[in-house]
Amino acid sequence: MTEANFDFDLIVIGAGYGGFDAAKHAAENGLNVAIVESRDMGGTCVNRGCVPSKALLAASGKVRELADAEHLSGFGIHAAPVRFERKKIADHANNLVATIRTNLTKSLERAGVTILRGEGRLEGIQKVGLREPSGVDRIFTSKDVILATGSDPFVPPGIEIDGRTVFTSDEAVNLEWLPRWIAIIGSGYIGLEFADVYTALGCEVTMIEALERVMPTFDPDLSKLASRRLLDGRDIDARAGLLASKVTPGCPVVVELCDFNTRKLIEELEVDAVLVATGRVPATKGLNLDSVGVETNRGFIPIDESMRVLIDGNPLSHLWAVGDVTGKLMLAHTAAAQGTIAVDNILGDFREIDYRSIPAATFTHPEISSVGLSEEEAKVLASKEKFDLGVVRSYFKANSKALAEKESDGIMKLLFRKDSGEVLGAHIYGLHAADLIQEVANALARRQTVLDLSCEVHTHPTLSEVVEVAYKQAARQVSTL
Ligand SMILES: Cc1cc2nc3c(=O)[nH]c(=O)nc-3n(C[C@H](O)[C@H](O)[C@H](O)COP(=O)(O)OP(=O)(O)OC[C@H]3O[C@@H](n4cnc5c(N)ncnc54)[C@H](O)[C@@H]3O)c2cc1C
Repeated sequence: MTEANFDFDLIVIGAGYGGFDAAKHAAENGLNVAIVESRDMGGTCVNRGCVPSKALLAASGKVRELADAEHLSGFGIHAAPVRFERKKIADHANNLVATIRTNLTKSLERAGVTILRGEGRLEGIQKVGLREPSGVDRIFTSKDVILATGSDPFVPPGIEIDGRTVFTSDEAVNLEWLPRWIAIIGSGYIGLEFADVYTALGCEVTMIEALERVMPTFDPDLSKLASRRLLDGRDIDARAGLLASKVTPGCPVVVELCDFNTRKLIEELEVDAVLVATGRVPATKGLNLDSVGVETNRGFIPIDESMRVLIDGNPLSHLWAVGDVTGKLMLAHTAAAQGTIAVDNILGDFREIDYRSIPAATFTHPEISSVGLSEEEAKVLASKEKFDLGVVRSYFKANSKALAEKESDGIMKLLFRKDSGEVLGAHIYGLHAADLIQEVANALARRQTVLDLSCEVHTHPTLSEVVEVAYKQAARQVSTL
């Protein structure tokens, strides 16, 4: 039963992955919960992110595999020329989105969550305003409120979006047409995944990266190896140090490229389409955060490790935030974990999040994944805490399963403390890297050492032996004084 004087125990604003997990977990634990959503249930992940992009990657990945005559002939296989139907690939993604959205909505209803449609905002502490699609405005009271409004694509100044020839991932996931030549602005994971899809389906790609090197957010050693296959080995012209200062939609789309440092105009490209993949911005504008005195940091809501919203570094009572809107490791599983943790704290079961053990993956063919510290961060920690940093590399070319698959392009880098053996981070490029990283993430969550991990038996022959080899190499370097 809801505590006296409140309409709900908990109102969650935003039904993305973060809001969904929070609302369901709270309702399953007996709270009277409402969730407010202004667009599609399921948010970015289900409608415009993980789900449709992975469906496109799955279909286009099969096209790439079947079209790779050289690779297939190594097995003695000679396939007929591959044909594909763009519309059916797009339908596969759309149908999957619809199914997952329906399942998710039903599971909230089954858990007893009240779904409120419309634009939510704060109206002071423990008060939520709702502007319904009809224009009717209502105010609800709630003992606790979780803000889970997520993020939207960032479009840099000078770039004009028309949704047809110049677009963001929001539209790209619909795969409405296949441009002959597409410029992708940004070489982060979203740019790379779409480059994978487009090149598999026969498009020519120019990738434009403002920073000094392409794939700037990835481990430099991994990206050197990965870019040989993922960029150089495909119909992709990857260019770093260039800023797309002006993009004008049309036929053709005109892209002005400047030197990133001098801002001098270098070149004008005329392409069929442009995908803008330059990061994401928090969706906080309409939330009326002023009504509770919360100041954002570049639009992100500041929180502590238990998901409480902060004012001047001090936690507010009864106000929580989770997911992309907090700017921490902006991934669906982070949002979900934060949502569950916020609710556990509301229920009085104190919990904090461990960001170091949250893995990240890029679902290119082959995949890239990471967990924990980057080598740079690990070096800083080593010098601060005065320990020797261990770095070992393990290669897919020495792995029987990878060789059997003729997919031996890959590397794993493992970072650990040489004094205690504690794992600090891992970075993997290679076949099924997104699955392989989970083992290291679990070890990191338990703060396990490579001494223990090197004794664990791995199935032969599997790709997981790449991880086993890294653990064993690392264990040999741990000082046992
Ligand atoms: C192309 C792409 C691919 C991706 N692939 C992956 C992947 O493979 N793996 C992964 O982990 N992550 C992936 N992500 C990231 C992932 O989608 C996000 O991290 C995740 O969706 C964040 O969840 P969230 O709940 O914080 O926010 P969101 O999913 O953005 O949901 C927020 C919801 O709040 C609603 N909302 C906003 N303001 C209001 C308001 N005032 N009132 C009511 N409702 C409101 C929005 O309509 C939205 O539905 C991908 C993202 C993109 C764009």
